[in-house]
Amino acid sequence: MVKKLSLLIALSLSGLRIWAQENPISYTVSLNNAVHHEAQISLVIPKPPQDSFVVKMARSSPGRYATHEFGKNIYDVLAYQADGKQLKIKQIEGDAFQISGHQGSVKITYTLFGNRVDGTYAGIDHRHAHLNIPASFMFVPALQERPIDLKILLPNKQWQVYTQLPVDSGVYKAKNLQYFMDSPIEISSATVKSFDVLNKEGSAQKIKIVYHGTAADSTLQDLTLKTKKIVKEAEAVFGELPQFDFKEYTFLIDVLPSNASDGMEHRNSTVIPQQAANLESSISDVLSTISHEFFHAWNVERIRPKTLEPFNFEKANMSDELWFAEGFTQYYGELLQARAGVTSIDDFLNNQGYFLNSVLNSPGANRYSPLEISRRAVFVDAGVAIDPNNNHNIYSSYYLYGNIIALALDLSLQSQFNLSLDDYMKLLWQKHGKTEIPYTIADLQQTLASLTSDDFAKTFFTNYIYGIQKPNYRALMAKAGYDLNRTKPFAAYVGNLRLNPENGKLKLLSPALFNTPIYDAGIEAGDYILSADSTNFSKTEDFEAYLKTKKPGEQITLTYERDGKVKNTLLTLTYNPTLGLNAYEKLGIELTPEIIAFREKWLKSKSTE
Ligand SMILES: [Zn+2]
Repeated sequence: MVKKLSLLIALSLSGLRIWAQENPISYTVSLNNAVHHEAQISLVIPKPPQDSFVVKMARSSPGRYATHEFGKNIYDVLAYQADGKQLKIKQIEGDAFQISGHQGSVKITYTLFGNRVDGTYAGIDHRHAHLNIPASFMFVPALQERPIDLKILLPNKQWQVYTQLPVDSGVYKAKNLQYFMDSPIEISSATVKSFDVLNKEGSAQKIKIVYHGTAADSTLQDLTLKTKKIVKEAEAVFGELPQFDFKEYTFLIDVLPSNASDGMEHRNSTVIPQQAANLESSISDVLSTISHEFFHAWNVERIRPKTLEPFNFEKANMSDELWFAEGFTQYYGELLQARAGVTSIDDFLNNQGYFLNSVLNSPGANRYSPLEISRRAVFVDAGVAIDPNNNHNIYSSYYLYGNIIALALDLSLQSQFNLSLDDYMKLLWQKHGKTEIPYTIADLQQTLASLTSDDFAKTFFTNYIYGIQKPNYRALMAKAGYDLNRTKPFAAYVGNLRLNPENGKLKLLSPALFNTPIYDAGIEAGDYILSADSTNFSKTEDFEAYLKTKKPGEQITLTYERDGKVKNTLLTLTYNPTLGLNAYEKLGIELTPEIIAFREKWLKSKSTE
């Protein structure tokens, strides 16, 4: 059923708690030059600080863990006082402006340019305006507690406004800057679907799907149905939905070929931009993002690490807990789709096998703990720089690292305590989520101890969270009847090489990975691999064919060229470490009743519907 937005707004208003409206900062957005990616934005500040004050752009955005120079895309900043007199502005930093000499309220006007639709930036064009708030709106750091009013002047009759912010007589409201910054806005002509989820006491909350892009109505219905299944599986993990602020949660989905695929969680909504021609070709990607982002409504939005509170808009918060906030969410994003029947169990296990291989063979994860890797998010989470880095040797995704920790904990809880990770998440929800008391890693350990034992929790955290040891995944996966093993057990290996033929030689494009034969032999990206022993290489296939004739443990003399000089180096071939998961039944190993029961408990639907 398609509902008109006006009706949904009318419904949402009934639950609107009116925030104190003392001296709100009033923003107005006009989109008359949307075709050239510009918006005109003004903010009126009643009773500003008397002598002088600063208005600036943010440098970070909720849910993004690196800094971004949003100030680069605003210009023509002007200031006026209430009688229309233009005020002097002193630009004190690239993105900060000082206003002084004013009397009464002050109005600031500026132009915003935005041409990237994702979860972080602003995208404005003839089709829509997709505004992430920190990328779009200047703010007054000294007045962060002021309520905010927002008016959007629509450039045509087709466009409407979609956001988690409540609206009253055409004015969108946020109780303070933190709330405003967390409330992205899509302005377009979108389609809205919705369904209700009842809580234990029988009162309903509304889940809305706002879809902008090309899609047949039947595909949108399919999306809505599958989203509901995922929502019910997520609810089953925690035992209840969060209390959304206005009894509504909104998926803001945008599917266009020019988008950047992304997903960004917020308190009562999520932004899901997808790079695709239509929903038909991208529905599985969109559902995968839906599953991940909706789990964030608990894990990170309400079960919140202390390190992200309060969110700092002037520089990125460093967090030790992203292996949990993002990694456990990654795990459940995958698991809930499988439990809901949206993906197959095979897909789930294939992905887990891929994640295990990526992390267990990542130099970064073998050198640094999940805690240390989480801290690097301030550089890697869409952080852009022009100088190269050594991330291939010192970094490993905290999404995947955290995912395989969640996997190990889930299987350990089930095999040692007849519990599951759901029990742990439920307990964390009661202690830190419902109460919204931000947690530390010590809290995570203590909660695990209260569910299991002091010893178990201490060993787990010491070894795998503070330390760099890895759980015995082969033994853990065996409990569920899956074999974790090398996919090429007899193949010789020199390292993970990306080679490109160039003038009859092979150029090494990929940086050498720590702890591989090629690294130990001193070979690095940019070198030309010429021959080994007496075999010459001019194509990648030549090199691969040569390696197939060799065995792990053999020594070879590799000839390479650097700066026009030919050199020889001796290297010892190792085993190819690539790992994969295989179901016992595919290997001809019998499934015992214990294994079948274990699998069932782990993977079956937990939803009561
Ligand atoms: Zn996430």
